[in-house]
Amino acid sequence: MPIYEFRCEICARFEQNHPMDLVPDLVDCPTCLAPARRVMSAPHLSAAGSAAFRLVEKTSRSAAEPEVVQSTHPGRRSGRGTPVTANPLHRKLPRP
Ligand SMILES: [Zn+2]
Repeated sequence: MPIYEFRCEICARFEQNHPMDLVPDLVDCPTCLAPARRVMSAPHLSAAGSAAFRLVEKTSRSAAEPEVVQSTHPGRRSGRGTPVTANPLHRKLPRP
């Protein structure tokens, strides 16, 4: 059920949950019981679970306690014999 914001002319703004098909334009203020009109406001979108939130969470967590790194290239096998390229023409290029 979405949260809708209402504004009481006497008190202040407050929020209430209503079904989307039954949201009233006027409700009674929970404090002074005066009629309060629904106001349009920006939706409250949760950032939790998004990729940006996970990145910020992981970055802030690793700032105080760095993660232990097991390899330099995750997903790439270490050791000899791992070709960088399969093109035979690259074998003729100068080596460092
Ligand atoms: Zn009020």
